Amino acid sequence: MNTQILQFNSKNTQLCADEILSGGLVAFPTETVYGLGANALNPEAVKKIYDAKGRPSDNPLICHIYDKAQIEQFAFITPTAEKLIDKFMPGPITIVLQKKQIVPSVVTGGLDTVGIRMPNHKCALELIRECGVPLCAPSANTSTKPSPTLAEHVLHDLDGKIKYILDGGRCSVGLESTIVDCVNNTLLRQGGTPKEEIEAVIGKLNRPIVGNVPLCPGMKYKHYSPNANVYLALPGIDMHRRIEQKYDEASGKKIILSLGGNYGDRNTYCIGNSVEEYAYNLFAQFRRLDGEGYDIIICEGVDDYGVGAALMNRIHKASGGKTI
Ligand code: AMP
Ligand code: MG
Repeated sequence: MNTQILQFNSKNTQLCADEILSGGLVAFPTETVYGLGANALNPEAVKKIYDAKGRPSDNPLICHIYDKAQIEQFAFITPTAEKLIDKFMPGPITIVLQKKQIVPSVVTGGLDTVGIRMPNHKCALELIRECGVPLCAPSANTSTKPSPTLAEHVLHDLDGKIKYILDGGRCSVGLESTIVDCVNNTLLRQGGTPKEEIEAVIGKLNRPIVGNVPLCPGMKYKHYSPNANVYLALPGIDMHRRIEQKYDEASGKKIILSLGGNYGDRNTYCIGNSVEEYAYNLFAQFRRLDGEGYDIIICEGVDDYGVGAALMNRIHKASGGKTI
């Protein structure tokens, strides 16, 4: 199959909608990362997502919708969910709700709940509206690799596997959505909407893991990883010294990703001047550094607060837990 990148306009959106409604897959931009969309009500189409990504089939997919009325067709809205919808949607948040029968079990990995999200992105909303059905859309990358924040990233991973990539430019958030389970009042994943803002609206959320059992199926899998070995420097008074020590003893092509830190003549790239900018750039930089054959990436850590918490989670996963 020949994969084409299409600029976002109404004619191309129509082409993409036709492809989805005939059972195909289309990648499209959202404010978080690029998604790989299929008609959520067509089980055969949904299965193609798992094949294209190499994604384990017990890892449920998020359904993308374009307005509140559409949510009620597929899930039971709780009072907590209602508050989150009114305050944060459209935006980088996913709510997990009891599903209605119409949602095929292949979408939810066999669970009786479904993840729902309304992306805050013109291209995504127009495509979903044009399709008239919810779109399942995990990140449009090969499973375990950094999520795509540009159409070119999608092409790199999925060339030949899908017909169209709808190009809407660079994703503005750069990290995945925050996931809130509204059935158990639990934060399942940190993401683009800060936990603190959510708790200000609905009160304290439960912690995501009880014992060793992940509540969120995707949490047990490796994620977001470049080929290079990643190290996460935990923030603290001697962080700069720890980074310099790791850098000096590491062998291979190496780099420090800094949030304004200065490391003498060591190879350093300032990835942002704010936590938001760091998050916006992280996956794109992982991909660039892979392309340039880096062996070691040492990332400055940030405070575990707001979007910083999501950022730390992604770097931690990318590092496979290697902290310094
Ligand atoms: P993504 O890979 O960004 O598309 O996010 C999908 C993740 O959302 C999955 O890996 C799950 O962890 C989570 N998720 C989706 N649906 C559900 C659900 N019904 N219950 C719990 N977690 C879910
Ligand atoms: Mg993903």
